Amino acid sequence: MDILYSGHLHSTDSVPITFLTVCLHIKVCHAELNAILNKNSADVKGCTIYVALFPCNECAKLIIQSGITEILNVSDKHHDTDHMIASRKLLDMAKVKYSQFIPSIKTLTIDFSSIDDCVYNHWTQ
Ligand SMILES: [Zn+2]
Repeated sequence: MDILYSGHLHSTDSVPITFLTVCLHIKVCHAELNAILNKNSADVKGCTIYVALFPCNECAKLIIQSGITEILNVSDKHHDTDHMIASRKLLDMAKVKYSQFIPSIKTLTIDFSSIDDCVYNHWTQ
């Protein structure tokens, strides 16, 4: 299982700040993009993707093109926005299933200290 997250694009530090203040969101990679690009398998055809929020229309296109066949999302709080309406239409056309995932736990803690004592020792110094 991979746990990925939204993050900024690599090598974008040279983009002028004035431009970024107008379009700050352009530097963000949504978690779906990171998950698909950083998969630890040859491909994700036929896979299920678990996401916190229902995917936007841009991520829906990535999901469709990657061959993912099912989406389980925790929240759909932006359900009525144009991006989400477009996303559902795209996913429906591609016959990608989607439904809400209700986790059995509310929080998940990852103990990185169990992975590598050197990393843990670095944090505690
Ligand atoms: Zn997205």
